[in-house]
Amino acid sequence: MEDTIAAIATAYGEGGIGIVRISGPNTYDILKKIFVPRNRKQDWKMENRKMTYGHIMDPKDGQVVDEVLSVFMKEPHTYTKEDVAEINCHGSMVSLRKTLELVLRNGARLAEPGEFTKRAFLNGRLDLSQAEAVIDLIKAKTDKSFDVAMGQLEGVLSEEVGKIRASLLDLLVNVTVNIDYPDEDIEELTYEKMEDEISQISNMIEKLLSTADSGRLIREGLNVAIIGKPNVGKSSLMNELLKETRAIVTEIPGTTRDTIEEVLNIRNIPVRLIDTAGIRETDDKIEKIGIEKSKKSFNEADLILFVLDVSRELSEEDQEIIHYIGDRKAIVLINKIDLEKKWDLTFLKEQMPNASVIETSLKDRFGVEKVEEEIVNMVYSGSVRQNDSLMVTNVRHKNLLEQAKSSLADAQSMTAAREAMDFIEVDLKSAYDSLGEITGETVSDDIINEVFSRFCLGK
Ligand code: GDP
Ligand code: ZN
Repeated sequence: MEDTIAAIATAYGEGGIGIVRISGPNTYDILKKIFVPRNRKQDWKMENRKMTYGHIMDPKDGQVVDEVLSVFMKEPHTYTKEDVAEINCHGSMVSLRKTLELVLRNGARLAEPGEFTKRAFLNGRLDLSQAEAVIDLIKAKTDKSFDVAMGQLEGVLSEEVGKIRASLLDLLVNVTVNIDYPDEDIEELTYEKMEDEISQISNMIEKLLSTADSGRLIREGLNVAIIGKPNVGKSSLMNELLKETRAIVTEIPGTTRDTIEEVLNIRNIPVRLIDTAGIRETDDKIEKIGIEKSKKSFNEADLILFVLDVSRELSEEDQEIIHYIGDRKAIVLINKIDLEKKWDLTFLKEQMPNASVIETSLKDRFGVEKVEEEIVNMVYSGSVRQNDSLMVTNVRHKNLLEQAKSSLADAQSMTAAREAMDFIEVDLKSAYDSLGEITGETVSDDIINEVFSRFCLGK
């Protein structure tokens, strides 16, 4: 990396302080040109890793831009493994922009989104999955998603992938040796032994993959759509889950016309909750738009919360919704159990055998905890609920693990068919490469660029 990059590293807007970050070979010279320490001596030097008080000053006209604290960090023990400087300005966009402009005019260029982290990756301080964890860490909305990202940054995932890769490499070396030197005095690799090793490696991959569904939801959040005919208690449910009155609760049926969306944190799972207008036929134009939106959020939902009112007879509309939900993942709330029951639950259990049914009285907050519990259970279903942070949260990683798994399955069936080792070797190698793409050992420039393009400026 020849050039020096710079960007505003803190969030846009007003703040106590804001930081301009510089990285690259010219860092020291740039800082020397524009930063004037308070007690400047004739031949002053920026000390390594020492926060220094002073001013940012335009060397052309001596104009003071801001009063700052600056620090210079000598490579290689820095974020990018290059020389890095951070200028702590006052957190005003004016000061930050002016300081950045001065830095750019004196020998740096504006960093691309994610370029600091990209350099950390290219210079070998982070592997690719660790670099990806940096975005997740920045974007984490719950403690759990933060913990998992932190674990990934610290290399928990890389370590596991590395272990699997090492086993594969062992096997590959063994295969190659057996192909190249079949008559030498080396341990013969039998097909039986091969089958055994491939299945062990597959199991390791399988185990990682089993965390992927929960992992994705923990990182990206769960899309939950609330559905039910008017007046059953959808807005009340939304309010109870939000624990504050933001969705409007009314007594007039059909008033929730548009979808209302809220993001909340249910026991550490980020949830995007959508209150739908009900998915039914209507002639009302505005309502139609709402219904289209509802259908969309319904179709995209990971989980459906279906609310029924037990105090009114089941109607055709309820039937339609039951039909519409089909075998999707759903939690059914039998609401208003404080009132007289007009229909029997057994009917519903016949109609929706896979759904979990919870009786509620949302007016009194009764049953809300159970609903929350059930949401959490659904997120973790299929995977062991772990406290440690080894989880596959990233779709890219999941796809690569699946590719590796499928190559190994091919290798396994060829082994079973006693095909030539050369053929089997090709599939083992391809599984090895897929795993290497997770950590970035065998990844193409295109993919690297794509990964870092998802970062924001200054990271
Ligand atoms: P939505 O149209 O499905 O969003 O329904 P709302 O949440 O607006 O509720 C409609 C009406 O039912 C409001 O007057 C609520 O206070 C009332 N309601 C909601 N839940 C309950 C409950 O469990 N019991 C009783 N008795 N009334 C409820
Ligand atoms: Zn409503």
